[in-house]
Amino acid sequence: MDLKLTEAELAFRRELRQWLTVELDGLAPPPEKQDWESRRKYDLSWQAKLYQAGYAGIDWPKQVGGRGASPIEQMIYIEETERAHAPYVGVNFVGLLHAGPTIAAIGSQEQQTRYLPGILKGEEVWCQGFSEPCAGSDLAALSTKAVRDGDEYIVSGQKIWTSHAQVADYCELLVRTSNEGPKHHGITWLILDMKSPGIEIVPLKTIGNSTEFSQVFLEEVRVPVADRVGEENQGWKVAMVTFSFERGTAFISDLIRSRELLKSLVTIARETRGNSSPLWNDSAIRYQIGHLSAELDALWSLTLRNVSQASKDRVPGVGGSVFKLYYSELRQRIGDLALKILQRGALAMDDIAGMGNAEHVEGYIYAISMTIAAGTSQVQRNIIAERILGLPRQAS
Ligand SMILES: Cc1cc2nc3c(=O)[nH]c(=O)nc-3n(C[C@H](O)[C@H](O)[C@H](O)COP(=O)(O)OP(=O)(O)OC[C@H]3O[C@@H](n4cnc5c(N)ncnc54)[C@H](O)[C@@H]3O)c2cc1C
Repeated sequence: MDLKLTEAELAFRRELRQWLTVELDGLAPPPEKQDWESRRKYDLSWQAKLYQAGYAGIDWPKQVGGRGASPIEQMIYIEETERAHAPYVGVNFVGLLHAGPTIAAIGSQEQQTRYLPGILKGEEVWCQGFSEPCAGSDLAALSTKAVRDGDEYIVSGQKIWTSHAQVADYCELLVRTSNEGPKHHGITWLILDMKSPGIEIVPLKTIGNSTEFSQVFLEEVRVPVADRVGEENQGWKVAMVTFSFERGTAFISDLIRSRELLKSLVTIARETRGNSSPLWNDSAIRYQIGHLSAELDALWSLTLRNVSQASKDRVPGVGGSVFKLYYSELRQRIGDLALKILQRGALAMDDIAGMGNAEHVEGYIYAISMTIAAGTSQVQRNIIAERILGLPRQAS
């Protein structure tokens, strides 16, 4: 593992930093959070700019419109875009961070040519149809059924917690194609066109007042067999590749943003009075901030290690579960400390007198979901126990 950047990587950083400075100057502010159509337009238009400038899909193959660079350059890209506060992947996080990389890693040549350019050019949005009401942690228990009919599957069932389904063009969909043998063996990974007849999308409101999730009902929806990724009944293996991207590399931007959050907490602690003096004078607060900061640094080193490993295999390893577990729980501890520092400011979702409380209150609520999304903490612990520590498997 070599953690030092090469001259070419340093040059890439300089060139990107310069481009971001120019492009971000005068960029329109983002739309209202719940205005999904405008958010789609905004996120896709930024993605189109990246594509035109050669900064889309840094580590995706050149044949599909990517830059064909190393995951190390991808990491530099994330660092620089976060540092400059550039728009994030937004409503197309599934397309850019896990469905796209899965298809790039194991999709057929036809699927790569058909689907990857649309993601990179900012033309098509993807969502994830994995979870069901009775299949979340125990995902292999999923029951949405796909029955083969000539060159098509006929799909019926229900998905839940589908982020951004209302603005998605395609869905990475897990379906049951067989009830024979162990439940992991009868699953298939399909590409679902969200405009197909028979799909009903019903938004769900979250504790943070967001309608980002939906329930998706599927009634006799036809999906061409050509849109199956991997073999029939082998979808569990494909889903593991998807998860390795979702847990292994999709949170890197978030980690960088957490460092910024912590810096902003320091500013608030310096400017907010406790009983008689600024909170920053309280050594317990300084200790906690210092400790959290050191933990973020340690996670950054783990990220470099994971990315360096991924640059060899093209698919991140099980180390992603270690990162996801530790990071999501750390984010909740940052949120807890933020509420303590904000005092009454923690009660408002809007900024009070320029205090900067809103992003921390929002961050606190967001962090609640982080130990659930992409596999809960308990599930990550099971994976680490079984696949890294070699402990006995959980009875199913
Ligand atoms: C922000 C966010 C975005 C999401 N986006 C999507 C999306 O786009 N598409 C999608 O398909 N899904 C999405 N999900 C759903 C997510 O994948 C599931 O919520 C998650 O897998 C947990 O499943 P569940 O909610 O059914 O909880 P359950 O599986 O019912 O779990 C309930 C509790 O029991 C614990 N538990 C369950 N099994 C075990 C076990 N074997 N050992 C120990 N403890 C256990 C869990 O850890 C949890 O604490 C999203 C979730 C969040 C929070």
